Amino acid sequence: METERRICKACLLRDLAEKDQKELKKYLSRIKEQDRADEREYERRLQICRKCDLLSEATCLACGCYAEFRAYGRYARCPKKKW
Ligand code: SF4
Repeated sequence: METERRICKACLLRDLAEKDQKELKKYLSRIKEQDRADEREYERRLQICRKCDLLSEATCLACGCYAEFRAYGRYARCPKKKW
């Protein structure tokens, strides 16, 4: 029997497998505090990404990054100027 592969358009890494979440936390913890976006701004950006047509399986198709990685940087910008 063939299994159907489902693509989650609005998913972030935090919605995916536990192993992906651990990798995400590990990666984000390496970014210096002063280089991080503040929590409210980070969540605001991710809400915009969730509604974006260019988000696919946690990846921004405009830049190829995981949206959560891209949005975390204090001076990061959306490649499509949505945030
Ligand atoms: S970073 Fe910008 S273009 Fe990429 S998924 Fe988020 S809102 Fe969309």
